[in-house]
Amino acid sequence: MPTSLIPRLIACTVLALSPASAAAAQTNEFLQVQRGELPVIITAPHGGSLPIPGVPKRLGPEGERTSGKFVTSQDTRTFELATTTAKRVEELTGKKPYLVASKAHRQYVDPNRPEKEAVEHPNAQAVHAAFHGQVREFVDELRKKFPAGALLLDIHGQAASTNTIYRGTQNGTTVMKMVEKHGASALTGENSILGYLAVKGIKIEPPNTPPGTPPETRAFGGGYIVRSYGSHTTNGVDAIQLEFGGAFRMDAKKREETARWLAEAIKACTEKYLTPKP
Ligand SMILES: [Zn+2]
Repeated sequence: MPTSLIPRLIACTVLALSPASAAAAQTNEFLQVQRGELPVIITAPHGGSLPIPGVPKRLGPEGERTSGKFVTSQDTRTFELATTTAKRVEELTGKKPYLVASKAHRQYVDPNRPEKEAVEHPNAQAVHAAFHGQVREFVDELRKKFPAGALLLDIHGQAASTNTIYRGTQNGTTVMKMVEKHGASALTGENSILGYLAVKGIKIEPPNTPPGTPPETRAFGGGYIVRSYGSHTTNGVDAIQLEFGGAFRMDAKKREETARWLAEAIKACTEKYLTPKP
């Protein structure tokens, strides 16, 4: 089509949208979303870098600002780690995983916090609601399509130990169904996500021992997303927070390797624990 027509067509399309869908179009530019074909959803709430128009940087509750509990820094390159992993899973299995990754910077909205702590401006509220609306829709869909079980992997970055991946399941609570059905090996065995990565020589914290022994590191033990959608909730799926050290995500080559290994782990776990047995 002649390029001179494109701006006019876009203008018409925008005018034709209802206020609700116009708002949805605006908030969708802050999300990377993929509907999948596998019983796996990858989320990444802290890897975004975009400002939200009209939204000032969050200040946080006064007490938390001084205690250091209030964090607005990006989990660097976790957006890229999540989206690359999704691509590698598709190449490896021929099927897409589900994906919801925030493109907005954590300075403006924190999707891994409940709304009252996550936003300080109405425009950021819309982005928070869009993120969780999308995750909820996908989790509901996964539960219907995959009665054998589904897994949510929430991708983060931590600066406490560069060569470590911390596990966050609230000490087994957010993967309750999987562990009830298959035993602790679904979380820690060689075909589990963390067990598979451990076989590659990666340091997992806590080590791959049964949930609670020893307990997960408190700061990385599972935040709002895995607590909201984990299998301990009425309408949840098994959910694991993965906190990657810098060595796994900062360098492009290392990040590519991490994505490939995580994709292999997703394949192994899906085949072993999320596929109905004849
Ligand atoms: Zn994070």
